[in-house]
Amino acid sequence: MALSDQIEQQTRTIGREIFARLKTESPSVFHLAWWDEKILDWCMRDETVKVQMFRFIDVLPMLKTGEQVARHLQEYFLDHKEILPLVVQWGLNFASPRSAAARAIALAVRRNASRMAQRFIAGATPAEALTAIRKLRRQSLAFTLDLLGEATLSEEEAAAYQQRYLDLLTSLAAAASSWEPMEVIDTDHAGPIPRVNVSVKLTALYSQFDAIDPERSTAWVKERLRPILRTAREVGAFVTVDMEQYRYKDLTLRVCKEILEEDEFRAWPHAGIVLQAYLRETEQDLHDLLAWVKTRGTPISVRLVRGAYWDYETVIARQRHWPLPVFIRKWETDLNFERLATVLLEHYQFVRPAIATHNIRSIAQALAASRRLGLPERAIEFQMLYGMGDAIKAALVQLGQRVRVYAPFGELLPGMGYLVRRLLENTSNDSFLRQSFVEHAAVDELLRSPFDSAQDSPEEERVNGSDTPADDRSPAHDGFRNEPELDFAQEENRRRLREALGQVRQQLGRIYPLVINGQEITTSAEIVSRNPSHPDEIVGRVARAGLAEAERSVTTALQALPTWRATPAAERADFLCRAAAAMRAHRAELAAWEVVEAGKPWREADADVCEAIDYLIYYGRDMLRLAPARQLDDLPGEVNLYLYQPRGVAVVIAPWNFPLAILTGMTAAALVAGNPVIMKPAEQTPVIAAKLMEIFRSVGLPAGVLTYLPGLGEEVGEYLVTHPRVNLIAFTGSLVVGLRINALAAQTTEGQRGIKKVIAELGGKNALIVDDDADLDEAVQGTVASAFGYAGQKCSACSRVIVLEQVYDLFLKRLVEATRSLHLGPAEEPGTFVPPLIDDEAQQKVQRYSDISKREGRVVLETEAPAEGYFVGPVIVADVSPQATIAQEEIFGPVLAVLKARDFDEALEIALSTPYALTGGLYSRSPARIERARQALRVGNLYINRKITGALVGRQPFGGLGLSGIGSKAGGPDYLVQFMEPRVITENALRRGFAPKSHSRNSP
Ligand SMILES: Cc1cc2nc3c(=O)[nH]c(=O)nc-3n(C[C@H](O)[C@H](O)[C@H](O)COP(=O)(O)OP(=O)(O)OC[C@H]3O[C@@H](n4cnc5c(N)ncnc54)[C@H](O)[C@@H]3O)c2cc1C
Repeated sequence: MALSDQIEQQTRTIGREIFARLKTESPSVFHLAWWDEKILDWCMRDETVKVQMFRFIDVLPMLKTGEQVARHLQEYFLDHKEILPLVVQWGLNFASPRSAAARAIALAVRRNASRMAQRFIAGATPAEALTAIRKLRRQSLAFTLDLLGEATLSEEEAAAYQQRYLDLLTSLAAAASSWEPMEVIDTDHAGPIPRVNVSVKLTALYSQFDAIDPERSTAWVKERLRPILRTAREVGAFVTVDMEQYRYKDLTLRVCKEILEEDEFRAWPHAGIVLQAYLRETEQDLHDLLAWVKTRGTPISVRLVRGAYWDYETVIARQRHWPLPVFIRKWETDLNFERLATVLLEHYQFVRPAIATHNIRSIAQALAASRRLGLPERAIEFQMLYGMGDAIKAALVQLGQRVRVYAPFGELLPGMGYLVRRLLENTSNDSFLRQSFVEHAAVDELLRSPFDSAQDSPEEERVNGSDTPADDRSPAHDGFRNEPELDFAQEENRRRLREALGQVRQQLGRIYPLVINGQEITTSAEIVSRNPSHPDEIVGRVARAGLAEAERSVTTALQALPTWRATPAAERADFLCRAAAAMRAHRAELAAWEVVEAGKPWREADADVCEAIDYLIYYGRDMLRLAPARQLDDLPGEVNLYLYQPRGVAVVIAPWNFPLAILTGMTAAALVAGNPVIMKPAEQTPVIAAKLMEIFRSVGLPAGVLTYLPGLGEEVGEYLVTHPRVNLIAFTGSLVVGLRINALAAQTTEGQRGIKKVIAELGGKNALIVDDDADLDEAVQGTVASAFGYAGQKCSACSRVIVLEQVYDLFLKRLVEATRSLHLGPAEEPGTFVPPLIDDEAQQKVQRYSDISKREGRVVLETEAPAEGYFVGPVIVADVSPQATIAQEEIFGPVLAVLKARDFDEALEIALSTPYALTGGLYSRSPARIERARQALRVGNLYINRKITGALVGRQPFGGLGLSGIGSKAGGPDYLVQFMEPRVITENALRRGFAPKSHSRNSP
């Protein structure tokens, strides 16, 4: 019999033995006192109930009063009251949330939820955790403790997390000295092993842990991890570094390898890392790790898990159109788990295997393989989670195995995230525990080899793997798709940008002429473009158009108009498509230009290039939709055609803050609609605009159709806006300039033959509301990203955060510390979050507002900024009145006003108290309040429970109401129409009583 067949047979034998030893009781998660089997049962049968239930559990710890609990119960279960116990139903039907009955219900709900949490969480304090550990040891179970924590948003929180671990290690070690020795858990095949064992998460040790900047992240994390490892070594404890989301995987492995190679730890064997079998890359990682351990010379432990973030990873990868890092089908993960377990067992002298699973098939396979390989007794450790698979733990103990329980402990609030993850896992269709203990699947089925499942799956899946789940192949995906941003967790992408920056550096200081009618024209006047991070560095010297060149541009555009207008829409769209391809081919280089000329940090620069590509593709496709003439009715004898024609000469006046995307968007829309375009870029970013011009020329856009005309706004800008032969102005910029353009464009001069169309995206004074039940981890992160990303220089940026008074102090404290921890630096440094402002004028203006802040509120944060570059460090001003200047005027920099609201009504009122209405947001977990915000928070783009910046073409068409703009949303279905005017042609088709049956369509 082949070796694999022998192992398979043994696996089934051992598996049956484990099943036979299971006590009949189900694991505790499926036996809950109040919160009731029936409820979980419902959750498993009805996805909407499950979502509501888990969301309710998630928000519960934030609800401080009985009234809040009762209100949320009503809101969450309005449509599913029948699942609640009768007494709760009665209470919710008849009691007001403020009544004594509601308060009593709230109390009961809270008590029961805590009880539920206690099944998975080994106590709130170290003392409670110690009690739980003693209880485990009495059952011959070893432990590893994990400190539950909120997301680490600041360095203060990271330092506190580190300190808690240091305290934990010393107090546990002291307690451990009095524990009775237990050979089965305190030794392995080679002798005694540490009794004290903890698990740590690297993201909790450094608030800016980000793979985009591996050097900085690694250095900081090692600094915090070192004392933990040192203490562990001194007190004789063991430390495992948990594995988190995929984006941290490479960095986590790197940190672990680097630190364990340091002289201090090189010979220390009591460290472990985690590998996740659901990741496609793990097999390679394991082989790399093995090679590394051999050079290190001291073994480490490897905990093999399937992976806890499967849903998250699939959602994120699909949202970003990134390759899925995880296997799609459960059997693929199962198969990989067995394969990896076997490799671990084969190399147990180098990597001590910790098989962490509740899946009896996987456990049995590991045992069978270890017997076949002749591993010594207890060379292998099994690990399971606290509160899960207790019967399996007991069975393994009976079989003489070493079993370690991963026991998280900590406050209920951060604990809920952990609890929800466990509940999701347990109620998932693919859960082994659910299939065993709820569905009561046949033992033979549960012990089936994943290899057999592979054989049952379609040929194509087996051979090619399965990147695309069936539901991703729906026709909807044949439509527009956003250009995927670069995943900077991949070294390959970081290298691309680094190299592009190097190439761009070589080209700094070049001269860029105007381009009119295909001819390059130099001028005596020039615009000097500087790098905002290093103002002495000249990015380029750009010709500066005067009135004569502006006039020549209009003449050229007028000459180009008839031919361009008559060019079929499909051909025009094809130019856009080719320009998109050219941009894709140069995307790293274009992003690098944004870094040096606009001071955009890496991610923002790359995102801007993607957005530019998106506009080209989106408007190109949309023109194909709009181009065919529509027949308006189907009456015999009459043909009514509705068709669009371009408006004429278009002037595009673009801003510097999205130097490629917005310029490309406005230009592409005007062009594809058939209008010749005069492109006047912002004075701060003319080189990027020159790159766009190069791209359009490279794809053969006819000369004259597009003019590159950098110049001063007040000079050539005004000249063009008032020119009688200009028909359309697309502008993005400040309110003051926008209103002036609108006023000037409205005036008609002698001989003018049309009324100008103005499309304008203007400013904002955008507010985020933080409700009293908001997830503060998310709300703080979202506010920081919205207010300080690109130093607040986005029209969508958050400049007011309105916080309900119940959570005001807590939110403010975390916000200040999170902001203080951001990295300010030159844009070319990959880890920079807050770059400099665009120029000295902007710097002075923002500094003026920061002075005003001192009179208008309590300045709770002012940050030191680097001396070189146009920096202003983030400023946070608390207790600002809604009417204060800094709460009313657009600042366009990193100054954030924090306002306190008594209740939700007041918060809405404050949010709407400016004449702008561009973006807005709400962090809340109250379905009713979310609904109210949908109705009442009338802004152009409303974001719920996410940051308020980063709109994507096609997904979040962008544009404001009120004083925030004129016209419809960029990247949306109504945008292109504005660049055209409709015509109707009616023809009487009746001739001598005869009318054709059908009419052919014309295209413009
Ligand atoms: C001691 C211990 C420590 C742990 N530490 C970590 C850690 O550091 N990092 C971490 O990420 N997880 C960790 N986990 C959690 C672990 O990853 C699993 O989530 C959990 O153990 C459930 O998997 P299972 O093998 O017990 O059961 P099973 O029920 O057999 O498997 C469930 C798992 O299968 C995978 N899966 C589900 N559906 C699919 C699908 N359609 N396609 C592919 N795969 C799918 C998922 O990973 C899911 O969690 C740990 C678990 C234990 C026991």
